[in-house]
Amino acid sequence: MIPYGRQDITEADIAAVVEVLGSDFLTQGPRVPAFEAALCQATGAAHAVAVNSATSALHIACLALGLGEGDLLWTSPNTFVASANVGHLCGAEVDFVDIDAGTFNMSADALEAKLERAAASGRLPKVVLPVHMCGQSCDMARIGALARHYGVRVVEDASHAIGGAFGAMPVGACEHSDICVFSFHPVKIVTTAEGGAAVTNDPELAARMERFRSHGITRDPALMEGESHGPWYYQQLDLGLNYRMTELQAALGVTQMARLEDYVARRNALAARYDRMLGNLPVALPGRSEGVISSFHLYVVRVDAERRRAVFEAMRGDGIGVNVHYIPVHTQPYWRRHGFGPGDFPVAEDYYARAISIPLYAGLSEAQQDAVVASLGKALG
Ligand SMILES: *Cc1c(COP(=O)(O)O)cnc(C)c1O
Repeated sequence: MIPYGRQDITEADIAAVVEVLGSDFLTQGPRVPAFEAALCQATGAAHAVAVNSATSALHIACLALGLGEGDLLWTSPNTFVASANVGHLCGAEVDFVDIDAGTFNMSADALEAKLERAAASGRLPKVVLPVHMCGQSCDMARIGALARHYGVRVVEDASHAIGGAFGAMPVGACEHSDICVFSFHPVKIVTTAEGGAAVTNDPELAARMERFRSHGITRDPALMEGESHGPWYYQQLDLGLNYRMTELQAALGVTQMARLEDYVARRNALAARYDRMLGNLPVALPGRSEGVISSFHLYVVRVDAERRRAVFEAMRGDGIGVNVHYIPVHTQPYWRRHGFGPGDFPVAEDYYARAISIPLYAGLSEAQQDAVVASLGKALG
């Protein structure tokens, strides 16, 4: 089976992880800050907070922005469920903004229209959470400008997009957002097995996220109420969780991050090769945004909705591990119980009906890619 995505693990990765096992710290040691420094280096962000998943990172990002009861979070319906779930986990309400049919990203036009209506009815969101689908950044200049205009905070879900760029800036520079979140799940661009991070340029948000990562506790006397009792002393300032990353994960992250540029270059080369090879097949190729460098987490083709299932099953039968990203979140049973349903976000639903993610990862060989294209061609008859 050729999977749709797969980690790339080298001898250097293995040596780095094994070394941690013989060291003094399995958690809360020097490697997490080293990984955070690598994230700041790669993104240009001033602060990074590494945690045990992107879901956790999205959660502490929203907590740090004060999202809570009575507030509203808007995200894309075309995402993994976690992007929406964190709104409810914070006690806020959630709504969605439909996508652009070409980029599969939150539509800035739809966002503008919805913000205008929300402002008129006095029900603006506190947080907008755009998702950089497949690794291609949303139009952050427009989303950021709209957010500033309406006084809305922005958290980028860049789970797919580390190593990409919007204009002159790397994804994660937070030029147009408050916080940007990455995932290091094995199918993503770089991996720590499980893992995630939130980056920001705001030192106050960074400090709050660090506290939410570890029970809401601080050891910094400057932040404490009253006097410190001594060197052992800590105070719990907020209600936090244990979302800490281990040293094993961080060590893997450091060696993986050293290959980020190679990974993104390789994925782009493979994507360009797909573009050329699929040009004559009856499929719609992924749309490209101008001025954006995608990290190409996913390569999604669209076929006729009536044929999608047959094409998918034929390719799986050929040993091609195709997948579908994403089932529109608002059609999930949980979200239907909260008032959403089919028909609410038709562009995302039409996209979903036709989408197939075909294999794309750094270790995919051209021969394997040829096999994917042959299988797709055969399935399309
Ligand atoms: C993978 C993913 C997540 C969740 O990441 P975890 O690290 O598995 O928690 C969230 N949002 C998107 C868009 C993702 O692809």
